[in-house]
Amino acid sequence: MNTFELQEKLNGKYKLTRQREIIFHILNSYASHHLSAEDIHEIVHEQHPEIGLATVYRTLELFSTLAVVQKLDLGDGCQRYELYSLHHHHLICNACGKVFEIKGSLADALGTVIDAQTDFSVQDYRLYIYGYCKDCQANVTSNVV
Ligand SMILES: [Zn+2]
Ligand SMILES: [Zn+2]
Repeated sequence: MNTFELQEKLNGKYKLTRQREIIFHILNSYASHHLSAEDIHEIVHEQHPEIGLATVYRTLELFSTLAVVQKLDLGDGCQRYELYSLHHHHLICNACGKVFEIKGSLADALGTVIDAQTDFSVQDYRLYIYGYCKDCQANVTSNVV
């Protein structure tokens, strides 16, 4: 997502304030990092100590309402955020908690199945896939009695 697309989402209703732009840029440059509000605040703070955690929270809430970011629950008890994209999914390792991304959208395939069985109109969906990463697979199998 670029600044132009962000402007479109803000849709004249919300100003692209300096804080919003800074936080947006961080989300962009840390794509695939799945940052928490605290992480973002820490990064912001280095260059812009005047931007507080409350502002980061408020901005993320707004971004999430406008579908600029999506909230993620990666199972570590921490709310995380990333720029909204339907085109990747998350694989989460049950042993070490590492998160991997796969590119490609399953929306079309899912849509076909849902259309065939219901008259439900899908607005959004979340998909987390759980298993063991390559490093952990060896440990897991050796622990099986
Ligand atoms: Zn991601
Ligand atoms: Zn692992």
